[in-house]
Amino acid sequence: MVRNLVILGSTGSIGRQTLDVVRAMDDRIRVVGLAGHRNTALLAKQAREFRPRVVAAQVDTDLDEAFGNAEMIGLPEGLEALATMPGADLIVIGTAGKAGLLPTLAALGAGKLVALANKEVLVMAGSLIQGLLKAGSGELVPIDSEHSAIWQCLEGEPRRAVERLTLTASGGAFRHLSADELKRVTPEQALRHPTWSMGRKITVDSANLMNKGMEAIEARWLFDLSLERIDVVLHPQSIVHSLVTFSDGSTKAQLGLPDMRLPIQYALSHPERWANDLERLDLAAIGTLSFGAVDWVRYPALGLAVEAGKAGGTYPAVLAGADEVAVEAFLVGKIPFSQIPPLIETTLNRHTRCSSPDLDDILEADRWARATASRLVSPAM
Ligand code: MG
Repeated sequence: MVRNLVILGSTGSIGRQTLDVVRAMDDRIRVVGLAGHRNTALLAKQAREFRPRVVAAQVDTDLDEAFGNAEMIGLPEGLEALATMPGADLIVIGTAGKAGLLPTLAALGAGKLVALANKEVLVMAGSLIQGLLKAGSGELVPIDSEHSAIWQCLEGEPRRAVERLTLTASGGAFRHLSADELKRVTPEQALRHPTWSMGRKITVDSANLMNKGMEAIEARWLFDLSLERIDVVLHPQSIVHSLVTFSDGSTKAQLGLPDMRLPIQYALSHPERWANDLERLDLAAIGTLSFGAVDWVRYPALGLAVEAGKAGGTYPAVLAGADEVAVEAFLVGKIPFSQIPPLIETTLNRHTRCSSPDLDDILEADRWARATASRLVSPAM
C-alpha cells in the first residue's frame, strides 16, 4: 500500500528530514501536498523533485511551472486545504509555533492520520484535540523523539499498567555553563545544539528546557496521564529517548542515535517497521550513558511550563504565545537569554485563566499573550 503524504512546513527541519525518509522509501510513500513559508526557492525545488498535486506557498499562482506544475494555493488558507485534502492519508505537521494549530484541528476533523512535530499545537489546545480523538475523529501520532519513544514502549502494553513516564533531556547547548555565563550567551551560541539538528525556535527552547516543559504537556495529552506522573531526567548523550515505568516496577526504554529520521519514519511506517540503512547504535563505541537530576533552579522555564500545564485552561496557550515572542526577541538581540523565562512568567502572572476554553478562547489567549509579552520586551511601543 502506498501512503499519500502531505507535509506542512516542508522546508523546515522536520519537513526536509521527512522528505529524506520519503526519498529512501519512495515505493511506499507518495507526496501529494507540500506547504512552505519563507524558503520559496527550496519549496519549488522540492515540488519539482516530488511532484505533489498541490503546493501551498506565499507566491503568485502563475509560477506553477517552477513548482513542477502543481496546483498552487496561497497561505494561510492553503494549510487547511492541504490538511483536509481528499485522497491524502497522512498529514505531517512540521510547522513551528502556532502555525500548526488550525491545520491540525482541520485534519483531525476530516478524519486524517496526523503525524505531529509541532508541539505548541498540543500545548495550546490539548483538551480540544483530545476531545476530537475521543470522539473518534482522526488519529494522532507523535514525531517528537521522546514521544515516539514512549509510543514505541507502550506498543502491546495495557494502558492501565502505565505508572510513570520519564522524558530524557540533553540539557541543551549551555549545560556546561555557570549561571553567570548563562546571562551573556548569544543567539549564535544558543543555536548550536550539542546532539540534535533542529529549527531555530526549538533549539533555543532546548537551551533553557522550555522545550522539555512543553514536551511534558505534550505527553500529558498524547498519553492521557497527569503531569504529576511525568518526570524529566538529564541524559546528555541523547541515546535513551524516553522511558515508561509500569505498575510491576519494570521500566522500558527506547534507544537510538539522535537522528530525527528514525522517529519520522516510524510515524510514517507504523504499525510496520521499514528496513533502512541509517547508522546503527553501537553501545560499545558510545561507552557511557549518563543520567542526572534536573536542576529546576537553573532551568526556570521548565518549572514555568509544568506549572502552566498543571494550571491548565488557557495558561499553556499563554505560555506558548509568550515564549514565541520572548525567543524571537532574544534572537534579534532585544533581550538577553536569561530574560526569556521572567518575561514568560510575568505574562502568565498577568493572565486571567479561562478554565475550559474553546478554540476562540485559546486564540484570544494567544493574541493577548503575544501583545502582553511584546509590551514587556519594548515598553515604549
Ligand atoms: Mg524532543
